[in-house]
Amino acid sequence: MDSRLEDWEIHTPDGISLSLVADCIEKGRTVVAHSVMSTQLDRIRGEVADIRKTFGDRTVIIGGGAHASASPQSLLDSEFDYIVVGEGERTLPELLWYLANGRNPTSIDGVVGQDSETFPVPKELDRVELDRYPPFALDMNVVGPIEVTRGCPFRCKFCSTPFLTGGVVRHRSVETIKYWLSRAVNERGFDRAWLLSPNALCYGGRGRRVERDALERLLHECNAIDGLDELFFGSFPSEVRPDFVNRSVLEMMRENVSNKTLQIGVQSGSDRVLRICNRHHSVQQGIDAARIALDCGFRAHVDIIFGLPGEKQRDLSLSLKVCEELIDMGAILHGHVFMPLPGSAFENEEPGTLDTETRGILGEFSRKGVMTGAWCNQEQLSEELARQQ
Ligand code: SF4
Repeated sequence: MDSRLEDWEIHTPDGISLSLVADCIEKGRTVVAHSVMSTQLDRIRGEVADIRKTFGDRTVIIGGGAHASASPQSLLDSEFDYIVVGEGERTLPELLWYLANGRNPTSIDGVVGQDSETFPVPKELDRVELDRYPPFALDMNVVGPIEVTRGCPFRCKFCSTPFLTGGVVRHRSVETIKYWLSRAVNERGFDRAWLLSPNALCYGGRGRRVERDALERLLHECNAIDGLDELFFGSFPSEVRPDFVNRSVLEMMRENVSNKTLQIGVQSGSDRVLRICNRHHSVQQGIDAARIALDCGFRAHVDIIFGLPGEKQRDLSLSLKVCEELIDMGAILHGHVFMPLPGSAFENEEPGTLDTETRGILGEFSRKGVMTGAWCNQEQLSEELARQQ
């Protein structure tokens, strides 16, 4: 906690009730802050509209998170007062302090408001040093996966990570991760922990190749924490790139993690579509990665996106064929329908759709228990995102 904000009363409810806002307004200046992902936009807009309708300008409403950074105007249009663009660790406490002291928040780099005419690009703002900030709010008992890596040097066109965090990869040090996990175990009774990374096998390096020693040290040190019984890494919501998978590193992972599945981003069964998406790996590398994962004792959980820009009938058939091949091998699929995420290179592309036949095939996969994922409602979400762009 920023020492300048020690006298603030902070609440972290799952959803913000009007009665909580009313109680806070009774006590003094009230700020409502939302972290917004694109898929939550409708719900959060509804909450903000209710708060505005009920309390007018008696509360300041702030937005942050991935959607806010990529599309600040959409939140300003939805009656937010200020948007934190980019990383919030340093900017949000600064913004709160400015509000408490009557200063203009939009003079802070990375804060925009109703009068702002230009918006910063998140990856061009100063980057925080992860070790200087706690990964979760232990005092508030808000403890989730611990982000061990931020940023990615790849530029997959369907992904907003390159826009949000840029190509520079930063890691939390093993010492800091151990410090916070030990506290979560001792103070909050944690016995399981999830490590979070855009590509779990890149820990410790610049993100372009496996740094086996650094990864092994991270896992060993976490496993050595007294009271921490299970450590999860490389399973959802983390992922691994297929071109990082090799037998030696997965054998080491198998010894050190509790997850039964390994999340592998194959994304398409068509090399042509992978090239369009700038993935920099082939379909065969994806299939090989799943095979190695299975051989090493993991259940391969393979991400496949349908309806990617440029996907033609032949590419779709190839993807479905690869799905069958992966299922026959013993893998399970994580199905998605392409969504034009704000900030991604594909943000202005048409949302993905499924034809009736493909919908039926994916439905059958799901019924058999070999496909997970929110593919069936992503078409609708995708259209909603496209409407917002
Ligand atoms: S999809 Fe993964 S590898 Fe590609 S840019 Fe995003 S985080 Fe990086």
